[in-house]
Amino acid sequence: MNLSHIEHIGIAVKSLETSIPYWEKVFGLKCYAVEEVTDQRVKTAFFMVGQTKIELLESTDPEGPIGKFLEKKGEGIHHIAFAVKDIENALAETEANGIQLIDKQSRKGAEGMSIGFLHPKSTFGVLTELCENKNI
Ligand code: ZN
Repeated sequence: MNLSHIEHIGIAVKSLETSIPYWEKVFGLKCYAVEEVTDQRVKTAFFMVGQTKIELLESTDPEGPIGKFLEKKGEGIHHIAFAVKDIENALAETEANGIQLIDKQSRKGAEGMSIGFLHPKSTFGVLTELCENKNI
């Protein structure tokens, strides 16, 4: 599989506007990008910590995945994302190991990443994302 590092940790928040200052003031991080991902019905904000990012996720639709998560569980860690070299291969390999996939084919995530999610039912409750940076 060849995971190279934790690409990002996704955190569901009610509001980017009120949560960004926490990361900036308390930890001295800089929010370097805010991006809306329409098909995920979220607005994202990114911070760099070493080679790992913190991805804040604000819902743009109460019926979307983050909207539902916030309703059920409240704010908090939503998913962990691992960087892989070959996303299609990594998803196929994961499925061959009997893990249920949310995405059998990769799709486009924030920052032009190709991403795919594994189902938390198969991953001991951790919503897990694999992502390949096709920009590099
Ligand atoms: Zn993510």
